[in-house]
Amino acid sequence: MAEQPDIETMRIVAPDAGELERAAEAALRPKKLSEFVGQRVVRGQLQLVLDAARMRASTPDHVLLAGPPGLGKTTLAMIIAAEMGTSLRLTSGPAIQHAGDLAAILSGLQEGDILFIDEIHRLARTAEEMLYLAMEDFRVDVVVGKGPGATSIPLTLPPFTVVGATTRSGLLPAPLRDRFGFTAHLEFYETEELQSVVTRSATLLGSPTISVVTRSATLLGSPIDARAAHEIASRSRGTPRIANRLLRRVVDYAQVHGDGTLTLDAARGALELFEVDPSGLDRLDRAVLEAVCRRFAGGPVGLTTLSVTIGEEAETVETVAEPYLVREGFLVRTNRGRMATPKAWGHLGLNPPMPDGSLFD
Ligand code: ADP
Repeated sequence: MAEQPDIETMRIVAPDAGELERAAEAALRPKKLSEFVGQRVVRGQLQLVLDAARMRASTPDHVLLAGPPGLGKTTLAMIIAAEMGTSLRLTSGPAIQHAGDLAAILSGLQEGDILFIDEIHRLARTAEEMLYLAMEDFRVDVVVGKGPGATSIPLTLPPFTVVGATTRSGLLPAPLRDRFGFTAHLEFYETEELQSVVTRSATLLGSPTISVVTRSATLLGSPIDARAAHEIASRSRGTPRIANRLLRRVVDYAQVHGDGTLTLDAARGALELFEVDPSGLDRLDRAVLEAVCRRFAGGPVGLTTLSVTIGEEAETVETVAEPYLVREGFLVRTNRGRMATPKAWGHLGLNPPMPDGSLFD
């Protein structure tokens, strides 16, 4: 009888879902600024900063990328490094717990390197102060030893560029914000832009070396029916990461339930199965709206109370769900808390409260 693999072996053999997701994402990342869809203003600004740096044969100014998750901040950092022909070092605010962690990263930088710091608003305070000096004077003071005997050794760094990414630029202390020569605010994408993202990704996924699935569709001219691409795009909450993720589920659906062709029916079937509604709202979005309307009679309700009610982190509600719900006019933020709009009530199939505050379904 074949020997059963033990649990540990199985864990090593099977890559975890997050790893697969990251690998799939990496394969779909645009490599050049010209391949980066949408964000016309930011692309223009960045192109200028990079062209000027190239003309001066110097490193580009530090760049801060601000915006909700999945809009292309990491992708842009990688593009900056590729366009400048330099290396990219990746780290994140939560990974730098002490100034020493940052000192180790900084002292390993080469001239012209791009240092990408994701979630820079979560950097430890002591590291933040070290970063000020490094960004301004290309210098760090490394403290050796402890207590009264501690000495500080100044270390000169080669010129480099910090690309910071944040979902909450409001939380960045002003001295740190001021050290960036340029802040790019990424906006949610229009449906037509996301349609281009989906079509581009479908073409990449359809490459015969990666997948046999979409090859038949490729032979028909396009790897994805334009109506299917539009359907996915319109339900992706203005976010390329979500568009790519939904596309992969549509590919699965088309393979299992059809001949692999990415049709409108396959798109609708997959989106329904994964509970993405026609406005693109997902479970978290709907949980927020349901709580505000049903539990708090439309609000106002504070962020903390709302998050506890739906069992989510306040930061997730604030950075992932809210920006899109506010932009689409489902929710308003007032200084007394979050309030549902008539559009939110309508979306849930409910009537807004009567003037006396009573509810009827
Ligand atoms: P963020 O760092 O803002 O969370 P990422 O840069 O990781 O977002 O982007 C998430 C995914 O979305 C990536 O796999 C990338 O392929 C895709 N993506 C983001 N922006 C664009 C864009 N403008 N054009 C094409 N694909 C994009």
